[in-house]
Amino acid sequence: MQVQTTDVLVIGAGPAGTVAASIVNQAGYQVRIVEKLKVPRFVIGESLLPRCMEALEEAGFLDAVKERKFQEKGGAKFVKNGKTCDYQFARQFTKGWGWTWQVPRAEFDKTLADTVEKMGVPIDYETTVTAIEFQGSESTTTVVDKNGMASQIKARFIIDGSGYGRVIPKLFNLDRPSHLPPRKALFTHTVDLRRELSDEPNRITIVVHKPAVWIWIIPFSNGVTSLGFVGDPSFFHSYSGGPEQQLRSLIADEPYLKERFKGVEFLFEPRVLESWSTTTDRFYGEGYVLTGNVTEFLDPVFSSGVTLATVSSQIAGKLVVEKLKGNDVDWENDYMNIMMQGVDTFRSYVLAWYEGTLDTIFFADDQDPLINSQICSVLAGYLWDLDNPYVKNHKTGLTRLATIINYRDSQQTQSQ
Ligand SMILES: Cc1cc2nc3c(=O)[nH]c(=O)nc-3n(C[C@H](O)[C@H](O)[C@H](O)COP(=O)(O)OP(=O)(O)OC[C@H]3O[C@@H](n4cnc5c(N)ncnc54)[C@H](O)[C@@H]3O)c2cc1C
Repeated sequence: MQVQTTDVLVIGAGPAGTVAASIVNQAGYQVRIVEKLKVPRFVIGESLLPRCMEALEEAGFLDAVKERKFQEKGGAKFVKNGKTCDYQFARQFTKGWGWTWQVPRAEFDKTLADTVEKMGVPIDYETTVTAIEFQGSESTTTVVDKNGMASQIKARFIIDGSGYGRVIPKLFNLDRPSHLPPRKALFTHTVDLRRELSDEPNRITIVVHKPAVWIWIIPFSNGVTSLGFVGDPSFFHSYSGGPEQQLRSLIADEPYLKERFKGVEFLFEPRVLESWSTTTDRFYGEGYVLTGNVTEFLDPVFSSGVTLATVSSQIAGKLVVEKLKGNDVDWENDYMNIMMQGVDTFRSYVLAWYEGTLDTIFFADDQDPLINSQICSVLAGYLWDLDNPYVKNHKTGLTRLATIINYRDSQQTQSQ
């Protein structure tokens, strides 16, 4: 069997894998990526957050992405029963990027992969990792190419950025169920000729359709808009027919969508994804680190996936370089705990979203501009700024704020 050697083997050529590979490559180490599919390939996750721009910049990808002229995204708009709440990232509390992009992921991910290849990182496409054996921190990975030919890669370290493939957690039984209830998404890409009826294209719009059922509207610069419904799987049972019929009925039932998306062309038969939340015992081990979706993915509502994928790879890539230099690395404090700070902050927001606490905050009258800017920073992906009370006290801050708003509103009603 053919055997190759490399300093670092990266599994997966998505945002997590390519950012990590670039950072290790820039430090002068040999990196090789193996990717199961060929690119461009479809993946969902099209609305980015400003914090990911820092990771893309450090990976050296920003100029290549800018050239693609993707739709610029300046904020997130929430809509419920005709009321809107518009967060603009330029007004966020934390110092950082005030904008990002909305991207068809097939093109975005190909741009990152082509750029890292140009930097000198080889990518073996249509090559699947099937087994890994660790000898201390060194490893031998078996991969199988599209012709069914097996070969081996010996590496000093592995970065697993295999996303929904979850290669190391599955091979070594590290997967753990998430405590979040299962949810389902039904989505497609539409030819969006009537954008002017509701939105400008420069933000994501999240519509509260019913309690715990919401819609994403993500316009791209090419006139196409990604549209998806998310809710408890049982919510979809009351809609009959195939995926296209179900999505058209859902659109007709939502006042915010029905004029704009009536009869629009769907670019592919609507797809279904279900039960995506998973977690693992830990994000690292001897000879490997997990980055991106392989670590923990919660929920799509705040578009956190690509940002956590690229930020985790930005941090892990630099720690892998330290390890290769022979320095001690404190993975627990310098990686796991930092990533859990981000994941746990978003978890509080996801729970508050499905419980309705965030509805109270987002759609309140007379909002406090400072609090608004602090919540905006979380929505922009700035999850590590402990000067922001809505990061520092993410578990209690939202409930307390909603209680104050409800009390204030009840007092105002009584005095009228
Ligand atoms: C309904 C829904 C909506 C979402 N919306 C958003 C959003 O708006 N914004 C956002 O940021 N995120 C969103 N996400 C999350 C987003 O999809 C992911 O977080 C993101 O793609 C993670 O990137 P990654 O690089 O970790 O993994 P991926 O992008 O999944 O890349 C992993 C790569 O690894 C490869 N691979 C897998 N197994 C193997 C193997 N055995 N051998 C070799 N290669 C392998 C795969 O082919 C893939 O190319 C959404 C998720 C869902 C479920």
